[in-house]
Amino acid sequence: MLNFVLFGPPGAGKGTQSQKLIDQYQLIHISTGDLFRAHIKNQSPLGQKVSELIADGQLVPDAITIAMLEEEVDKNPEAKGFIFDGFPRTVPQAIALDEFLESKGSSIAGVIALDVDQEELTKRIAQRQLESGRADDQADKLQKRIDEYFSKTIHVLPYYEAQGKLSKVNGIGNIDTIFTELRAVVDQY
Ligand code: ADP
Repeated sequence: MLNFVLFGPPGAGKGTQSQKLIDQYQLIHISTGDLFRAHIKNQSPLGQKVSELIADGQLVPDAITIAMLEEEVDKNPEAKGFIFDGFPRTVPQAIALDEFLESKGSSIAGVIALDVDQEELTKRIAQRQLESGRADDQADKLQKRIDEYFSKTIHVLPYYEAQGKLSKVNGIGNIDTIFTELRAVVDQY
């Protein structure tokens, strides 16, 4: 299996670039944000448990997130590989993912971090809020998500850097140009 983590702050373009990666490489895309939103929409027990936290811009507790992610991976035993989008967001999640993949004789091949500065992120999400109406895209909730990113999620980068797996890609500019850079990274594997 060839597994990648697509990493970046809220609004970095992970979803957009994931879609292009799936089309190109036939990998299975797992976005924990999308999974949570589907649970909330379906009003599942999990959705009911996490909806307030998410609307407020907070991270969902690791145990819940990890269990959901592992279940989703297990639904795809034939996969050539996965693109993990929005996961791991904490170091304990990264450790759990490594252990989980190792138990399947697999691993993370590479981690691609989309680099976008805060000013650009704020602009993009303000625009997305107009289109998506996501409750957690409102200015105060967005600030909470950016705070969560810089207090918890950012530490995932040195974790993968120490394993020699981290590549940074400039996430500002033309979508196809960014994708070309991403492909150059993926094609090394
Ligand atoms: P963004 O657009 O900010 O990157 P996502 O769509 O990936 O956001 O996730 C939306 C929300 O879902 C997050 O703010 C968080 O509350 C929850 N969430 C998603 N992935 C995780 C995770 N790996 N760990 C904890 N919470 C998560």
